[in-house]
Order: sequence, then structure tokens, then C-alpha cells
Amino acid sequence: MPVNISAVKILRSKKRRRSVSCRLVRGILVVRAPENMPDIRLQEVIAELKSRIERKYLKEQLNKNENLAFKAEEFNKRYFENKLKVNSIEYVTGQKSRFGCCNFRTGSIRISHRISSMPQWVRDYVIIHEMAHLAVPDHSRAFWDIVNRYKLAERAKGYLIAAGTLGS
Ligand SMILES: [Zn+2]
Repeated sequence: MPVNISAVKILRSKKRRRSVSCRLVRGILVVRAPENMPDIRLQEVIAELKSRIERKYLKEQLNKNENLAFKAEEFNKRYFENKLKVNSIEYVTGQKSRFGCCNFRTGSIRISHRISSMPQWVRDYVIIHEMAHLAVPDHSRAFWDIVNRYKLAERAKGYLIAAGTLGS
């Protein structure tokens, strides 16, 4: 469900030199801008602010709807003999081309919002794939041996390729 920004209210201020700030008040985006900023530039800034707010809201919604930490705990027991240390796992909205990424050193996993609308068994694969990188950082044979403990791994890979999502 996208955030609903019903209107934009622009307040120009002489005191403001360069920066634009905004606040969302009951669906209305209240924007404070320098008096002399050209309209065309301000419209660009507002478009960017809007999309940033929408991304942030979407991220919150996704993480509220699906508890990935709980999932990871379950998978850790089922596929990794409970040996992995997942420090954090969450949906993110900034990622464009990859379906997930894993920071081997910090133990944090990010899952792209792009897969949030895919079937459960594909989402599970992506999570398991990224978790497996905590054990093996590259895509070596050892890595795939782990990932393939998940029975639907091959099918899920096919699904993601068909969906045009680049692997990671
Ligand atoms: Zn990978």
C-alpha cells in the first residue's frame, strides 16, 4: 500500500538560503523553500522528496508485514544447523538491480522490495541465498551445495531469471 500524499503545500521563506525541508501532515506535504529558488528546480526537489518518503513508508510496511528475522531464525535451524550469525535482515527499497545483498563482515542482510510481491517460495529462496553467503561469500560449488538444500532452489532461480531480476 503506497503512502498517500494528497497535496503539496509550498511555503516560501526569505530567511531560507538554500535548503528545502518538508513534513507530511495528514497527507499534505508541507514544503519550506527559499524564496528565490526557481520553480522548476523546486519541482525537481519535491519529486525527489516525495519518492524518498514513499520508499521509506514502503520499507516500513514491508518489514511490518513480514518478520524476516523470524524467518532467518527458522531457516538457520533448518538449513544451516543453526550455525549462522545473522545480525540483521530487512527489506530495503533503495536497491534497484539486485534481489538481495549480504554483508559478510557485519552479518547484515538486505532484501530488495522488488521480491516482496513474488511467491513465498521464491522469497524464501532469496533469503536462503543471502544467508548462505554468510557461510560462503562467493558463488562457488560449496555455496550452491548449501543453497540446494532448499528443494525449490533451481525453480526459484528460473523464476528470478524470468522476472528479469539480476542475481547477487
Ligand atoms: Zn549470491
